Amino acid sequence: MEADVEGFLYPNADKKLCAGCGLCEKSCPCVSTEPEKHFPQKAFIAQHTDNTILHESTSGGAFTAIAQRILAEGGVVFGAVYDRSLHVLHAYAETEDGISAFRNSKYAQSDLNNAFSMVRKFIESDRRVCFSGTPCQIEGLLKFLGGACPGLVTVDVVCHAVPSPLVFEKYISYMSEKHGALIKDVKFRDKNPYGYKYSQMAHYGKNKELLYYSGVETDIMLRAFFSNICDRPICYACKFKKRYRVSDFTIWDCPDPGLYDKSFDNDAGVSKVLLHTTKARELFSETMNLRKKEISVDAVCDSDKLMTQSVRENALRRRFLKDLSVRSAREVFEKYFPDSVKVKMERGIRKTCLILGVYKPMLKSFKRVGKIVKRMTAT
Ligand SMILES: Cc1cc2nc3c(=O)[nH]c(=O)nc-3n(C[C@H](O)[C@H](O)[C@H](O)COP(=O)(O)OP(=O)(O)OC[C@H]3O[C@@H](n4cnc5c(N)ncnc54)[C@H](O)[C@@H]3O)c2cc1C
Repeated sequence: MEADVEGFLYPNADKKLCAGCGLCEKSCPCVSTEPEKHFPQKAFIAQHTDNTILHESTSGGAFTAIAQRILAEGGVVFGAVYDRSLHVLHAYAETEDGISAFRNSKYAQSDLNNAFSMVRKFIESDRRVCFSGTPCQIEGLLKFLGGACPGLVTVDVVCHAVPSPLVFEKYISYMSEKHGALIKDVKFRDKNPYGYKYSQMAHYGKNKELLYYSGVETDIMLRAFFSNICDRPICYACKFKKRYRVSDFTIWDCPDPGLYDKSFDNDAGVSKVLLHTTKARELFSETMNLRKKEISVDAVCDSDKLMTQSVRENALRRRFLKDLSVRSAREVFEKYFPDSVKVKMERGIRKTCLILGVYKPMLKSFKRVGKIVKRMTAT
């Protein structure tokens, strides 16, 4: 696999060794796609019962509960982690402590390394395996293995899109320079201090001390991610955004749990879980550590257009990534995502409300007013 100028990895065959059999293209899910087959599904909202795990997870910790179930059977779990330089890659773990590093979404494409070969090895030695990743990674894995295997449980996410690893690398070096300290851990979706319903970035130093936190409107990496300026080109016409998937489970955020059950609405995080297979149904019924409630499959699938629709490419994408490959990260981020008066005000008002202890009541009032305005404009 070789990185292009935008920082994305692509396969590069050694022409001298290639036998020209075409198997690589046949097993590439982007080149040879399968038609979507319909089958019965089940849907749940779920929240982990362990408060520490819930706090560390992106949404409700559904992934950890499924992984714990596999570990209890002596299985192996694959997920995305940071290495020491904060590159995102896939690794495996066989302990509760090991899987904790998989928690929290990393909004950069993960390097799969030799993960697929390792999955095959574990399956061949009769170990149960849980593999979590983006929908394209799950389809790639199943093509690599030649189909679903009884011992394999796959968990994919409803994926916005995957940003370039190079953008994340440049962001880390720029922010380390700004903090005057090395960043040792990053949480793209930290629930401190604003709670689950507001996406925020946090950086931690070498003694796990908090170096920085900033929200979705003000942190430059989250602004880049949500403005669709740095994703892999194929994400803008993603073939894997669909309701009926090849994975066993699909998990994603539930920012509005009150719509389904008010008792879940505690701002600690809730996952939506879609079960595609009999294997998933059996496993999920035995999955402990989760408070869960069954909900309508149609309602949950219709609630999020990112399940089936690709994000629209930002018109400045090419220029942004080209600039980033030749100019300093500081120059480029400051040009495309300036710390304008509006951004400073947004950050300032939110922090002031938090210090004054009025953040959550204010948020509730804004939401209520928003709902009234929506109702009035609809009638
Ligand atoms: C790139 C990306 C984009 C996403 N976009 C959306 C979205 O638009 N809307 C939405 O509702 N949900 C989205 N999600 C899913 C969401 O962020 C949560 O993962 C989901 O709510 C499940 O949360 P959890 O608490 O159960 O588990 P988490 O603690 O989030 O763990 C989930 C699993 O995601 C895997 N993972 C983390 N980062 C990566 C990565 N870079 N590549 C592959 N796998 C990874 C980990 O291995 C882990 O097993 C996205 C996730 C990713 C990785």
